[in-house]
Order: sequence, then C-alpha cells, then structure tokens
Amino acid sequence: MAGILEQERVGASSMAEQLLRNIGPIVLLGPPGAGKGTQSKNITQHYRIPQVSTGDLLREHVRQATPLGVEVKELMARGELVPDHLVCDIVAWRLREPDAQRGFVLDGFPRAQKQAVWLDAFLKFEFFETGKWPAWLPIVVRLQVDYNKLLLRIAGRRTCPTCGRIYNVHSQPPLVNEICDVDGSKLFIRDDDREEVIRERLATYERQTKPVADYYERLGRVVTIDGDQPVDEVTARIVQEIDGRAAAASEGK
Ligand code: AMP
Repeated sequence: MAGILEQERVGASSMAEQLLRNIGPIVLLGPPGAGKGTQSKNITQHYRIPQVSTGDLLREHVRQATPLGVEVKELMARGELVPDHLVCDIVAWRLREPDAQRGFVLDGFPRAQKQAVWLDAFLKFEFFETGKWPAWLPIVVRLQVDYNKLLLRIAGRRTCPTCGRIYNVHSQPPLVNEICDVDGSKLFIRDDDREEVIRERLATYERQTKPVADYYERLGRVVTIDGDQPVDEVTARIVQEIDGRAAAASEGK
C-alpha cells in the first residue's frame, strides 16, 4: 500500500515538475506527410505545452469565414503559401497567449526564410525582458522521409472533422472504414490532400521551405530525425533531443 502511495506521490510530483519546466519553442520541419502533425500532438501531450499549427489556425479562419479566412481560402485550396505578414500576425497573437509561456510546438511555421528571421526577432523582443532569451531560441527538429513514401502517406491521409485525429488508410487505418475511432465522425480528405494538389505542395515545400532548414542549419540549430520509423520511436527520439537541450539550457551551457 505504502509502495503504491509512494508511486502516486512520485508520479504526481514528476507531473508537477513537467508542468513547471520551461521547454521553450520547438520548430518541427519537414515536408507535408512527414508526420509533423502527429508528432506535434505527441510532443505537446508529453510536455503539456500547446501545439501552434498555422495550417489549423488558417483553416479555422476559413471555416469561420473571417476576413482573413476569405482572403486566404483560394490560396490554400491551391496549395500555395499564404503571404508572410498574414501568417506572422496570427502566430504573434497565438504565442502571446498565457498557455504558450512555458513553450510551444510550431507546426507548419516557419515555412519561408523570412518567417524564420521574423520568429527569431519576435522571440528576442518578447522574451528578452523575461530572462528566457537567448535560451528561448527554437529547437529545430527536421523530420526526413523519402519522396515516394510521402506521396503514399498524404494520399492515404484521412482527418476527423470533430477531434482532428489523423489516420492513414495504409499505415494507421481506423477500426471501421472512414469512421473516427474516438467519436464516430465520418473522416474526410482535406482539400489540399487531394492527389492533384499534393505534388504542388511538395514542390512548394522544396522551393520555399528548404531555405528555412538551410537558415537554421547555418546557425547550427537543426536536429535531423528519420521520420520513416514507427510513430512512437520518432516521438522518443524527439523527446530525447528536447530534454538534452532543455537540460543544457538550464545549466547555462
Ligand atoms: P498545413 O496544414 O501546415 O499543411 O498548411 C495548410 C496550408 O496552409 C498550406 O498549404 C498553406 O496554404 C497554408 N500555410 C500554413 N502554414 C503556413 C505558413 N507558415 N506560411 C504560409 N502559408 C501557410
């Protein structure tokens, strides 16, 4: 009995520690289909920090038909990038929310070098006075997956409209065909996951996002992880990197 209570006490205190720890900004880089969405969800659950997905934020604007949503709807449906100033604005708003003050996972941002430069300046400006900067520079994790595997993965992707859970008809099918395991909603194919748009998105990624990886590479801030492994193994590798960096930062290295 005492053993169980002791385990519960240790469990509760490590959860409390987890809730107090500063994790900092985490940037997940990788082409569409590399597993950024799935890994963001796992990492945010592990550290109890929010996922900031610019794709999700923009889709929400489109769904609610806000002025921004109306402006970007067509661009997004064609798989093109939304102008930098619009995306940077919604990111700034989101990162100032109280839940993002211990850290956050950026998913789908930065996607152009200008956005990466903007992010560094924003983090310095926002966090300099808190004493968190320069440790508050992003940890950049790049997920690498072979091009043909990416095509297969995206074409098989299905999304739940209610809980946002992502399935794959090839590698992670739902228990019942086209139905969400969690809430029974009918799964859908995102407009920009359709075959004709996928190649354009991959080409856009190559053309515009690779400079982001190169930018961080030049600053020596990129960790490359093989994204073509079981989901949990990829998560464990990412956690290992983040813990290593967070520990080094807290020792003032
Ligand atoms: P995602 O869900 O990350 O694949 O994003 C879906 C779409 O949202 C992209 O194809 C772009 O049209 C737009 N988008 C998301 N993030 C960005 C960004 N950082 N910069 C420009 N456009 C973006």
